[in-house]
Amino acid sequence: MADALLGPAEIRELAARLGVAPTKKLGQNFLHDPNTIRRIVAAAGLRPDDVALEVGPGLGSLTLGLVGAVRHVHAVEIDPRLAAALPETVPDAHLTVHNADALHVRAASFEPAPTMLVANLPYNVAVPVVLHLLAELPTLRGGLVMVQKEVADRLVAGPGSKVYGVPSVKLAWYAEARSAGKVPPAVFWPVPNVDSGLVAFSARTPAGDIDRSAVFAVVDAAFAQRRKTLRAALSGWAGGADRAEKLLVAAGISPQARGESLTVEQFAAIAGAAKQSPSGGKLSPTGAQAKEVDS
Ligand code: SAM
Repeated sequence: MADALLGPAEIRELAARLGVAPTKKLGQNFLHDPNTIRRIVAAAGLRPDDVALEVGPGLGSLTLGLVGAVRHVHAVEIDPRLAAALPETVPDAHLTVHNADALHVRAASFEPAPTMLVANLPYNVAVPVVLHLLAELPTLRGGLVMVQKEVADRLVAGPGSKVYGVPSVKLAWYAEARSAGKVPPAVFWPVPNVDSGLVAFSARTPAGDIDRSAVFAVVDAAFAQRRKTLRAALSGWAGGADRAEKLLVAAGISPQARGESLTVEQFAAIAGAAKQSPSGGKLSPTGAQAKEVDS
């Protein structure tokens, strides 16, 4: 980690020199607390041979913490003024700055390939950014992201929790996630009106050979009407409530259950049952509880 991290005075001075007035639209709340930077870098569990991907380096607070901890840092910043100024604040040969929108970056832009995502994310696009990067960069072995506390709670929630939903299941497809603590508003400039939370995750191999898009279609349908039973919620997706029921039974899941009680593996089992019965033909057995059903 670099010796000199940025405190409140440095952050204000840097912003004034660059003529940067933080905007809400880009989620610009800059960290000005060296202890929080040290905490994030430590909690990320980085190895010296890791290649870190930082989304939204801003004025460089976290970037300064990352450059000494890994062998290379890719920093993706959408704001051209901040991207242009970063090499001056963080003069390190092992830093590559990408002036780009993280929602649209492609794997081919990153050499060496990123192994860890570490970021204080722009809160308005945090979930789509994390899911896009996990889909686009299978080289990521894990990461640590700071997001709005409420979003952190959703990302780490498990089945049965009130806040378990689409972001929880989709993140679980790629990774095991856990909370790494809360961060108070006072460590940011400007001070946000929400608490923040740290989410740590380790990539995992998705279960089975079902396409991610097929599984995510079931997840989206199940949570679009989360209060309904799966038989009802999945009827549009399945082409009728009867077929939804048959696919659920074939997957070993009660048609009366709700999406909020299912693991990502169970959503994959439903997609798997549909794959075996694409046009409503006889389902073949898929496990202990599978039944042959007519369509
Ligand atoms: N990492 C810095 C820190 O901790 O002080 C800044 C974090 S600030 C919460 C979010 C940063 O993400 C801002 O610098 C903002 O310009 C940038 N940003 C916003 N949307 C982005 C996007 N779609 N792609 C890349 N960067 C983005």
